[in-house]
Amino acid sequence: MVDDVQEYTGNCYCGSVTVTVDGPPVASAYCHCHSCRKWHAAPVNAWSIWPLIAVRISGETIRSFTNETSRRISCAQCGGGVANIKPAINMIVVYPMVLAGSDLGFEPVCHVHYIERVLDIADGLPKYIELPKQLGGSGATVGEPERSGWCKECR
Ligand SMILES: [Zn+2]
Ligand SMILES: [Zn+2]
Repeated sequence: MVDDVQEYTGNCYCGSVTVTVDGPPVASAYCHCHSCRKWHAAPVNAWSIWPLIAVRISGETIRSFTNETSRRISCAQCGGGVANIKPAINMIVVYPMVLAGSDLGFEPVCHVHYIERVLDIADGLPKYIELPKQLGGSGATVGEPERSGWCKECR
């Protein structure tokens, strides 16, 4: 790492896997896509992304090769998710909750794959149907929901 870049370190659920990142993420957001929701078994997924070279993972892990664009990494002991390599763009997502407890905050800038949502979130952030243009998407958004909560008409 570069000397003047601050490191942030966190762990999986059981503590067997340690993740260290160099500096703040390039971007943070919420993903509502089907594969994130199913892999995390959660209605929405929070993510922060770094260049692959800025992240180090130690401890025994398992990688999922189910999705072509994602190599999801979890702890071999507790099964807790820690990261997601994006091979096509040489980037890696580290889940913010892995780094919770470090000094690094979570500052999401948007919602992605919002059309696939099961949960509406009325937080005023842009809600991209798939992805913003900077991430290779159309940049198209949907309107702000009236309130947060389970989206009955979705799915
Ligand atoms: Zn673990
Ligand atoms: Zn996703």
